[in-house]
Amino acid sequence: MLRSKDIVQRHPQNPAALLDAIRDVQEAFGHVPDEAVTGIAAHLKLSEAEVRGAASFYHFFSLTPRGAYAVYLNASITSWMAGRAAVAQAFEEEAGCRFGEVTADGLIGLFPTSCIGMSDQEPAAIINGVVFTRLTPVKARHLVLAMKAGKPIERMVSEWGDGANQSDLVRAMVSNNIRKRGSVIFGPFEPGSAVRKAVARRPEDVIAEVKRANLLGRGGAGFPTGLKWEFCRKEPSDLRYVLCNADEGEPGTFKDRVILTEIPQLLFEGMAVAGYAIGAREGLLYLRSEYAYIRRHLEAVLERMRQEGLLGPQVAGKKDFSFDIRIIMGAGAYICGEESALLESAEGRRGEPRNRPPFPVQTGYRNRPTAVNNVETLCTAARIVTYGAPWFLSMGTAKSSGTKLLSVSGDCERPGVYELEFGLTVQELLDIAGAKDAFAVQVGGPSGACISRQGFGRKIAFEDLPTGGSVMIFGPWRNLFEIVANFMDFFIEESCGWCSPCRIGNSLLKEKLEKILAGRGSIQDLRDLEAWGKNVRALSRCGLGQTSPNPILSTLQNFRELYEKAVGGRDGFVPDFDLTEATLEAARLTHRLPLLEETSHE
Ligand code: SF4
Repeated sequence: MLRSKDIVQRHPQNPAALLDAIRDVQEAFGHVPDEAVTGIAAHLKLSEAEVRGAASFYHFFSLTPRGAYAVYLNASITSWMAGRAAVAQAFEEEAGCRFGEVTADGLIGLFPTSCIGMSDQEPAAIINGVVFTRLTPVKARHLVLAMKAGKPIERMVSEWGDGANQSDLVRAMVSNNIRKRGSVIFGPFEPGSAVRKAVARRPEDVIAEVKRANLLGRGGAGFPTGLKWEFCRKEPSDLRYVLCNADEGEPGTFKDRVILTEIPQLLFEGMAVAGYAIGAREGLLYLRSEYAYIRRHLEAVLERMRQEGLLGPQVAGKKDFSFDIRIIMGAGAYICGEESALLESAEGRRGEPRNRPPFPVQTGYRNRPTAVNNVETLCTAARIVTYGAPWFLSMGTAKSSGTKLLSVSGDCERPGVYELEFGLTVQELLDIAGAKDAFAVQVGGPSGACISRQGFGRKIAFEDLPTGGSVMIFGPWRNLFEIVANFMDFFIEESCGWCSPCRIGNSLLKEKLEKILAGRGSIQDLRDLEAWGKNVRALSRCGLGQTSPNPILSTLQNFRELYEKAVGGRDGFVPDFDLTEATLEAARLTHRLPLLEETSHE
């Protein structure tokens, strides 16, 4: 019989192995039992509190049993828009337990989860690591029946997606939905071309080329990539690292998933180019847990590149350049997309942001200078090195060169991934995606901006509407307040809890929003939302908290008339509950109803 002790002993006696040890135990037992917590703590020389702290931090770890089949049904807005409510109800009825519970026999657990990167094919769920897309109530019932019959989860997938999703190493029902191929990311790619071009030059010249191209980070923040590499290279150290952030967790984003599935070699060459430029020998790909199903495919590509001399010692024949790539798995936490939280998680701890400065280019992975770059950024850098800065600068706008991958979802005919030059307007994108009657467009995910029709002429570019890639479209039949409430729930769920403006402030904002939704809001509540939102934005410690009030602040600005209609011209203090109504049931039970009616008329 498998014992947690045996699993724990497989790992090196190093605290950095914490998440790997927890993951192995979780996979073997469906949760991390008390005896495993004790065993891991003793083996890695950590306290039990540290082990519990890490195990309770990530969505896909649990200290309590999650069921032999653990169903994680996406709770993001695109899932609700595609029929999540009916699918959830079917799961509950057929399984015989509610979401957040495990059936009495321990067979099935039902849990909501944040965006799993399938917004173009919702409702979607991850069950024991296997992705199920385009769920319907009928499919949900069939899945539960198959679970009750003890069918292995892999055999419940009966259809495959397109491209490499059909390959033996992936075998997923996920679709790529590549709707528009541009010339940077999805242009023709000759394997090995980027690495060979890079090592034929001096590292400083590679950095200069990327700087000339004005490549800005594609994760959303837009920091100049060449400058980041230069800082990292200049930092004195015996070791440096390239850390690729493949933890896209912004609701509505899924374009990195398509890159990882279809053109992983372009990414790995981008990492090798970055490694050569900054003087690193090792690259780390931090892969979000939701994309674990692509891992074997990625490992196979890495192995093939090693055999072809594109990774390992003397990359592409360059005598003094050795570089290899290792995959590190996430475990489900949006905050790990923040680069310093990503570093903490990569080092095996809770993904809590670090204080900055020092910045990762100074003190990053294992306290060494580290260039943290997004998947799309590294792919783009590989193409710039291959084709040169002038080619890249010929696309896009004056301040936003090149193309951008956009993950388009919601109320449109053609959801999917679009590679388009920077500078197109929101309306042009809506036309391409077949969104005839859009009422609102969320650009940049919940942390971005919600644009009304008046803003559809705005340009998608760093100088106007920056985005990491998420574009969610809402038709006029959608309830904007429900969308905003869903986004706020997301931030409340994903806050790491370290600082109070974010941990408490977002809950207060959500309560205020609910008060307005319940018809008890006033103009004063709108003023409060604005003031409190600005406080949370200004006082939070990291990017998550600093952008978390955006769903409210952005809609207050662009859809003010809806809020004003909801508060109906009331001003001043309006209590958020009705005392008479709240005590009605108690009064009825204690036969004091007449007394209550009397006082309510006073
Ligand atoms: Fe954590 Fe939020 Fe504070 Fe960031 S802002 S450190 S996510 S509590």
